[in-house]
Parts: sequence; C-alpha cells; structure tokens
Amino acid sequence: MIFPADMPRIDALIARQEGLERVDRETVEAIQLKKLNRLLAREKKRGGFYRDLPERLFSLADLPSLPFTTDEQLAANAPGLLLLSQAQISRVLSDATSGTTGAAKRVFYTELDCEHTVELFMAGLGELIFPGSVTMILFPFTGPYGLGELIAEAVSRLGARPLKLGAAGSCGEWSAVLEKEKPDSFVGMPVQLLRLLRVCGRGSLRRALVSGDACPAAVIEGCESLLGSRLFPHYGSREMGLGGAISCGAHAGMHLRENHVIAEIVDADGRPLPPGETGELVITTIGMEAMPLIRYRTGDCTRVLPGRCPCGSEVLRLDTVSRRDGAALAALDETLFRLPFVADYRAERRDGRLHIEVLTCGEGTLPPLDAELSVRPIRPDDRPLCLAKRRIENG
Ligand SMILES: [Zn+2]
Repeated sequence: MIFPADMPRIDALIARQEGLERVDRETVEAIQLKKLNRLLAREKKRGGFYRDLPERLFSLADLPSLPFTTDEQLAANAPGLLLLSQAQISRVLSDATSGTTGAAKRVFYTELDCEHTVELFMAGLGELIFPGSVTMILFPFTGPYGLGELIAEAVSRLGARPLKLGAAGSCGEWSAVLEKEKPDSFVGMPVQLLRLLRVCGRGSLRRALVSGDACPAAVIEGCESLLGSRLFPHYGSREMGLGGAISCGAHAGMHLRENHVIAEIVDADGRPLPPGETGELVITTIGMEAMPLIRYRTGDCTRVLPGRCPCGSEVLRLDTVSRRDGAALAALDETLFRLPFVADYRAERRDGRLHIEVLTCGEGTLPPLDAELSVRPIRPDDRPLCLAKRRIENG
C-alpha cells in the first residue's frame, strides 16, 4: 500500500479502498449513504434482522429515525444478523470468556473484514513504526485472524519485526525481552505500557500505540513522560472489526474509518448530540461484510471533535473514549496512577466495601482512600492484574 506523501494516512487509506481522488466531507458522506442504503435494501430483500426498517433513506440526517441495536439483541440474534453463510466466515469473536453474564455476544468476520482491519492498523502504526524497527505486541494471540495476529501482520507489512508476546506475560519476562530484543515500539493496553515503563525505566521504549481499554489522562501523561514521545491512542471494538479509529501525527483525536463506520453521539435519552458534546457512541458498521450493525449502542462515551484536523484531514475524529459505567474506576485511576511509584492496581467490591490491591515500584505514600488497602512491591513473576478491559470487580 502506498500512501501519497501529501495526504493524511487516513485519507489515503479511504481514497485507495474506495477509488477516490480526494477525501472530503461530501465524498465521505455520499459513500456512507450509498452503503447504508445498500444494506437496508439487502436486509429488506432477504427478510433479515433489519427487515422492518425502511428500504432506503434520502439523507444521513434521517439515520436517527432508525431504532438502536442493543447488546441484548446482538447476543440473542447473532446468526440472524449474519449476512453470509457460515462457510464464508473466517473468524468469530465471542465475549463469553470475559466475565459477562447471560448470552454471549458473537461477532463474525470475513477475510475481507480482517483485511480492512489490517489496512487500518497499517495506517495507524505507520505513524510510529518504521522499516527495520522492532515492535512488541502485548495483545492476545489466539489463532488465525485474532487481534494479536492482525496487528503482527500489519507490523510485518510495514517492514518491521513483530514480537508476539501476548497479554499475560510477567514483568520479568517482558523486561528480559526489552534487554535482549531492544524493541523501540509497543502495541498494547495503556495500563500495561505504564506498568512496563515504570518497572523498566525511562527510555526503555520509544513510541507506543495503545488500545483495548479506556485511556485515563494520568496514564497517558505517565507514559508520555517516560517514553519521551506522544502516545498514539487507537479505538476499536469487536463490533467494528477490532480496528476503528487511529491517531495521526497531529495527536488531535482519533480518525474514524468513516467508509466503514458511521458514528453518532447520543445523550442518555438517545437523542443525537452535535459535534463537541460528550455522550454515548453509536455506530453503524456499513463496511462490515459479514455482520453489519445499524445504530449499535457501544456503551462507550466520547465526543466528535469539531472541524478539520490540523493534519489536514476532514475525516471525523473521536476524542478520548471512556466507559459509560466507568466513572468510579476513572476517579481511582486519576488518584493512583498519578503516583509515580504505582505500577498497577486492582479494585474489587466485596460486601459493600472497596478493596484495592496496589503493586508498587519505589517508595511513596498512598493518600487516604475509603477502601481496604493491600500494598506490596511488584515482583518479577507478577503478571498483569487485569487482562481484559479494566473495571471494579464485584467479589
Ligand atoms: Zn489528523
């Protein structure tokens, strides 16, 4: 894939995938309406999950008139949402193992869906990974078309060497890799990066792309000061094919792959909010071949940044993303990760009382917290306290 030097990477990606000369609001929105109408017509014809929706919309402004798709519907109707036969599916991702109760959500992908994700990862990683460099990947490697595998493919295609480490390694294992392989870049979850940098020290890595979880300001600032460079946050979810929005060199929000995803922001009552206002992100995944969703409520909170990006792109940008139900954890993150001697922590509610386990890497005193505390120095055999999206557990 060749990106013209004068074009932002996200624009070049969309231009190449859609056969466009240039990418501006008008062309992006025309593509979105065309793909949405193709999907609506197809659903009507096949009597699919969305068969009761209108056959076409005359404008994207009418999108908010369609009903939302919820997690519960996704869990109950996955095969009905599938546009293709199971034989055409390359990968199924389920959240059955991540501690959720009730029916598991399943999301299906074709080979083309996965290829689009790799291409988006290349556009995002191309900002920080160069031919000949070495990149440590701290996401799970679960087999063909898994998240770790797709990132490693993008790293390889950029001419760099991926270190496929997975998410569950111990501190000792990761610092041995740093010593031996001398990677210059990192791809993984934000808190794992902070822990690694705090344990292994300033300058042990140069650049990083973080994804997979909320990215609290205290974690971003802690990482950037130890890296000596700005972070490249990425936003994705299973429902949008793992890859969704990438940071550009301007570090001014994350550009959404708008030829595959239409974003809306809504308030608590489901009413659309204008650019600049924070609410829940709702996505319509018009570019997914296997399992497109219409107005899916992500449960993630963010806002659309108004106007054109300083990089020159008019492709929509999402601000930092947090979980709709994550306020208590976000407040703890701000308190604890601001302390440079905190390497990691985990919070759990037991019998109505908050219990916090803190791993430290250096001397310091914790502020008074309304919780039962257990504090000890981190050891080389300590693995990450949380392997999935972080939350306050109920014990
Ligand atoms: Zn930009």
